[in-house]
Amino acid sequence: MRSAQVILMGNREHAFVVGGGPAGLVAAIALRRKGLHVTVADGGDFPSDKACGEGILPEGLAALERLGISLDPNEGRTFHGICFINARTTAEATFPFRSGLGMRRVVLHRQLLRAAENFGVEMLQRTPVTNLSSNCVSLGAKKVSADWIIGADGFHSRVKSWTGLDRGLNARLRYAFRLHFVCAPWSDMVEVHWSQHAQLYITPVSNTEVGVVVLSRDPQLRVREALQYFPQVLARLGGADSVSAERGAVTGNCFLASVHAGKVALIGDASGSVDAITGEGLSLAFRQAEALAEAIANRSLANYGRAHKRLRLRAAIMARMLLLLERQPRLQERVVSALAAEPDIFRRMLAAHVGHISPISLATASARLGLLLLASNFS
Ligand SMILES: Cc1cc2nc3c(=O)[nH]c(=O)nc-3n(C[C@H](O)[C@H](O)[C@H](O)COP(=O)(O)OP(=O)(O)OC[C@H]3O[C@@H](n4cnc5c(N)ncnc54)[C@H](O)[C@@H]3O)c2cc1C
Repeated sequence: MRSAQVILMGNREHAFVVGGGPAGLVAAIALRRKGLHVTVADGGDFPSDKACGEGILPEGLAALERLGISLDPNEGRTFHGICFINARTTAEATFPFRSGLGMRRVVLHRQLLRAAENFGVEMLQRTPVTNLSSNCVSLGAKKVSADWIIGADGFHSRVKSWTGLDRGLNARLRYAFRLHFVCAPWSDMVEVHWSQHAQLYITPVSNTEVGVVVLSRDPQLRVREALQYFPQVLARLGGADSVSAERGAVTGNCFLASVHAGKVALIGDASGSVDAITGEGLSLAFRQAEALAEAIANRSLANYGRAHKRLRLRAAIMARMLLLLERQPRLQERVVSALAAEPDIFRRMLAAHVGHISPISLATASARLGLLLLASNFS
């Protein structure tokens, strides 16, 4: 029997990244900066599009900059905070130290691809990885040796199942659809609109476009139907044309017991995810990329495992809180009213969400919110 040819790399350590989405590309750049030879293989075409809220939080932008990646803000639109809106009330808070960036997913991907190329990452598109062993990836009949294998292959990661890291996985999923409209953004905030049926997540993505994502438990609820539940947004859009194909995805809180096995590590959505309502996925992936490169430079994926747990903790707390509001509309109404009445609490919670204040300060803000809710119960 003829064995498949194994392609060996040169003297430098070789990291093979499975998946060239945002997590894979940023991890590849971070690893190149540590001096490794890095190959990224993606089964799709570049640049790629995907259902996403398309807002990058300040901490995600800061992580990119630390890795020497600066996105061109002229191809997107900055936003200064988050706004919660329901039928009765609006509560808003600005970020404490810098803005976020809304950017069409395909534009972000193009910019990250350019950065990866500039850093000398070897890119293989339309190249699905079909299997792997501890030190080899299979590209069909071809096998490529690697010192480190990074699974950045998204929510439905096969690397996760090939390595057995998907054991015990148990996520309650929601459904999301995304559409872009030709419409000058009416706000410099990301807006999260709440109703009993769904949430709408609105991101300014350029000076002439907004992205609208609907999140719900109903797999059939598309953006245009969902808009009927949000007359304020419908009025803002004023009959604007949509400019993208509607894309769908599943989302949810999904945490793995471990994100590494042998010389294989998972990153981005492959390594677990938080519900899209947090707007955290990209920022989390970019910070994971920094931690992963550091751990590989120190030859310890256990360090990455610990850093990954630490990074996901805040996002997980926020995701759980937001999903509680989603399941309990009356609580949601009272919380949004309380945040509108006490903007400082919302500002502190947002600062905690983007990693800018201590857990103690967050606990104080949460306690004040709890007291306000109790008081509203008795009034
Ligand atoms: C509706 C929605 C809204 C969201 N809104 C936001 C937001 O506003 N802000 C935010 O920060 N995050 C948001 N997120 C989360 C964010 O989109 C994800 O966290 C992010 O896309 C994860 O990137 P990734 O690179 O891990 O995965 P992906 O972007 O899914 O990339 C995975 C890549 O792997 C490739 N691949 C898969 N299998 C193979 C294989 N066998 N071989 C080779 N290649 C393979 C795929 O082709 C793909 O290119 C949202 C998510 C959803 C669903």
